[in-house]
Amino acid sequence: MVAFDCTRCGKCCASFGAFIKIERQLTSRDYYCRYGIKNELFLVHIEGEYADSQPSSSNEGEPVKGCPFMRKNPAGTGFACAIYATRPRICREFRCYRMVIHSREGHECGRIMGRHDLKTTDEMLAQIWKEKITPLPHNDDARWEKSVIAALAAHGYSGEPVE
Ligand code: SF4
Ligand code: SF4
Repeated sequence: MVAFDCTRCGKCCASFGAFIKIERQLTSRDYYCRYGIKNELFLVHIEGEYADSQPSSSNEGEPVKGCPFMRKNPAGTGFACAIYATRPRICREFRCYRMVIHSREGHECGRIMGRHDLKTTDEMLAQIWKEKITPLPHNDDARWEKSVIAALAAHGYSGEPVE
């Protein structure tokens, strides 16, 4: 297993984060919210450093579409979560990639994004994916993952699922 590394690109907060809605404001920093896709209710607390912050905006000053708790990262590039400690389950569990692929030399050369999509610039890996992995059945996720690791290993690559 390899540790998941979030680059704070904000893509997930801008996509499924749009389904996080504030239902009620309880205090200046506490909100009652709903995640629309699962219809889950949860309480959130705006963390101290974001107490006076506003939702992120674009260079043109328009609010960034997505989660109302997404903020520009005060420590540098990318985005930050103003309610990190109380963020909902979907955010705690979300992984935008599920496996890291290394070459025989040990260099990272690909990732499996989402559930089944390869991201790579390695042409050999892309070809193996197309011929050996794309045809694998997807009905049993754990079995699919094992088969992918075996197919990669047979061609000198190693696949490590993320934690
Ligand atoms: S989980 Fe992935 S998509 Fe979401 S902010 Fe982190 S790197 Fe970006
Ligand atoms: S609660 Fe935080 S992690 Fe979840 S979508 Fe909003 S900004 Fe992103």
